[in-house]
Amino acid sequence: MESQPSDDRIFDAIVVGAGIIGCCTAYEIAKRGRSVLLVERFDFLHHLGSSHGESRTIRSTYPEPYYLPLVLDSARLWAQAHSDIGFSTLTKAHQLDLGPSNNKSLLSVISNCESSSLPHRLLKPDELSKRFSGLFSIPDDWIGLVTELGGVIKPTKAQSMFLALSVKYGAVLKDHVKVSQIKRLGGILRVETDGGDYFLGKKCVVTVGAWTRELVKTVTGLGLPIQPIHTTICYWRIREGFEGEFTAEAGFPTFASYGEPYIYGTPSLEFPGLIKVALHGGHACDPDRRAWTHDMETIKKAVGPWIEGRFGGRVESEEPVSAQACMYSMTPDGDYVIDFLGGGFGRDVVVGAGFSGHGFKMGPVVGRILADLALDGEAHGVDLEPFRLGRFEKNPLGNVKDFEEQVSLHDFKN
Ligand SMILES: Cc1cc2nc3c(=O)[nH]c(=O)nc-3n(C[C@H](O)[C@H](O)[C@H](O)COP(=O)(O)OP(=O)(O)OC[C@H]3O[C@@H](n4cnc5c(N)ncnc54)[C@H](O)[C@@H]3O)c2cc1C
Repeated sequence: MESQPSDDRIFDAIVVGAGIIGCCTAYEIAKRGRSVLLVERFDFLHHLGSSHGESRTIRSTYPEPYYLPLVLDSARLWAQAHSDIGFSTLTKAHQLDLGPSNNKSLLSVISNCESSSLPHRLLKPDELSKRFSGLFSIPDDWIGLVTELGGVIKPTKAQSMFLALSVKYGAVLKDHVKVSQIKRLGGILRVETDGGDYFLGKKCVVTVGAWTRELVKTVTGLGLPIQPIHTTICYWRIREGFEGEFTAEAGFPTFASYGEPYIYGTPSLEFPGLIKVALHGGHACDPDRRAWTHDMETIKKAVGPWIEGRFGGRVESEEPVSAQACMYSMTPDGDYVIDFLGGGFGRDVVVGAGFSGHGFKMGPVVGRILADLALDGEAHGVDLEPFRLGRFEKNPLGNVKDFEEQVSLHDFKN
């Protein structure tokens, strides 16, 4: 028996996957007065992908120069969305980048600030200690860089904001719809589900995070180099009496510590008395068969001494008190994939994926770009060269970077 469409409309665009990227894309398309369907295989706001949880950092400091204009645009679009909905999902803070003064990634971050005239302050160890009231202590051969754009975004609140705004502008939302195939029928796309039904759209945007490799392989036969990585976020207890000093209100920054290991964190916010200090790393996983375990020994060995050294006994460094699982979708160069799928789909199917552990802050700007690509066939005012799929044909490792020690993933035990 021939299956029936689940909805008899032909949507201007169908967005597949409602993580932060899909939610922002649906919002952008709907805001432009175009009809859009957003489908999600699990519940909306589930915790099985990459966009759930308590906090995500926004910062403008990147070793690669091409992320700076994107993040500045994204910050503007976050503010616009907040004013559209009437509440904020961002707790502002300064951003502190720190590390050995000869670390090439950190030097590249500094050089990007200089060449783009981004307001920044470089601090020697004693100046850094003074700037943050003695809370951060760094070795003599380290430096600190303070920039204004920093802070913590509440991820689930942010996604629900974009879902609500999408509905406000007329988007149709459906969860528990797993897309299993995308086909072209003349000038129309048929987006099929594993339940045996389908939706029709003029364009499709695939934003399925860690499931991208699997879906794109099924649809086009193309094997994209996007590796799902299981990772762990840890919260550590602040010693009694110091809790107030680690809050954004008290001036404590969001931070990234370069070198080996690469560590990042946020002010104490979501769990009073605890602070998030996380190791950038994890192990390869199958997004549908995760073990949900945490490699605490690796984390304790890498993060414990860092906490002891930087926070001078104000935070308990023996072991974290809370751990949460999440997934990165890593590309070999750590850069995003934002492109047309090509092949038989030409410019009708767009993919936004491989956000490599740093895509949340960029949700609004990536949503805008994906909407541009889907609706206008080109992105306006942005150079997408670093994000093209074709880079992996030229070099399986993708973009070559000027700095040698790129931020590397700490490889946890499986
Ligand atoms: C621990 C951790 C810390 C991070 N910290 C930061 C940070 O501080 N700052 C920052 O900017 N970024 C950060 N990130 C990265 C950021 O969270 C991700 O880049 C971003 O959430 C990726 O969003 P996404 O929409 O691509 O993927 P997802 O959120 O995984 O969304 C993809 C969606 O597609 C759905 N889907 C999959 N297959 C199908 C299908 N066949 N049919 C329908 N739906 C489907 C999935 O269920 C999922 O909901 C962090 C990530 C992690 C894991």
